[in-house]
Amino acid sequence: MAVDLHSHSTYSDGSDTPAELVSRARERGLTAVALTDHDTLEGVEEATAAADGIEVIPGTELSLQRLEGGMHLVVLWLSPGRGPLQDRLAELQYARGSRNQLIVDELTRLGMPITLDEILVEAGDGSVGRPHIAAVMVRKGYVPDIKTAFDLWLANGAPAYVKRRLLTPEEGIGLAIESGAVPVLAHPHTLGINRAVEMADILDELKSYGLIGLEAHYSTYHQHERDGYADLARRFGLLASGGSDYHGTYKQGIELGSGHGDLAVPESLLEALRERRQ
Ligand code: AMP
Ligand code: FE
Ligand code: FE
Ligand code: ZN
Repeated sequence: MAVDLHSHSTYSDGSDTPAELVSRARERGLTAVALTDHDTLEGVEEATAAADGIEVIPGTELSLQRLEGGMHLVVLWLSPGRGPLQDRLAELQYARGSRNQLIVDELTRLGMPITLDEILVEAGDGSVGRPHIAAVMVRKGYVPDIKTAFDLWLANGAPAYVKRRLLTPEEGIGLAIESGAVPVLAHPHTLGINRAVEMADILDELKSYGLIGLEAHYSTYHQHERDGYADLARRFGLLASGGSDYHGTYKQGIELGSGHGDLAVPESLLEALRERRQ
């Protein structure tokens, strides 16, 4: 029995509605799916309502502040409503709005006229961000695809990149724990660390804030990487997690549950994580 503990819907930068995502999970034979839209829980209610015979785990994915490399945190069992982390999500939404305006202004200045309204129409409800800007750039013929939009213009270091204020690792993990949720370090390769001592330092630090899991099973990982990360998790007293990071058409070639074809996240990982839920 397989599960998928990392996915995105139209409430962030996925192309399936929460209801479509849940029915896709059911068709793929999954027993549980976590909806982890960036910085929002807005899709959870719709997903839960569509959960007929399949478990929907409410969650979100946060980007955490770091000097270099991308540190993302998948937060499982974060319920919609009020709470320490839930309340901070609203602030993150607000900061996204001003940042998106700065990005479209910069693109316009660079000869690619684009408006915030066009981005909002593309995004619909929920978190609005660079993938939606990229999609509008593709539609307007400025770039051939979303990846090129990032590589040439939107990625960190590219001409139209604008920083946004993020939670620190201590804040993000701490708030998740205070909110009764289970924080998991997402796709650890994006940290950009290849030295074992450096990885050990980071995992020790994150563990001291309360980190519970590490995403060892991920679409782009080969089996030896999945085994390696699962072993790393075990050695640092963390639980292995896993998910496809399915985004529909926003990330081509990744299927819910199976990733690029060979992903299979066992139900036993979910059960171990569930036991750590406060
Ligand atoms: P934002 O939340 O607005 O900062 O956008 C970040 C999101 O954009 C990530 O979570 C990914 O889904 C997507 N993304 C980041 N880098 C790339 C890239 N190089 N190509 C395609 N999508 C990307
Ligand atoms: Fe995304
Ligand atoms: Fe991520
Ligand atoms: Zn993700």
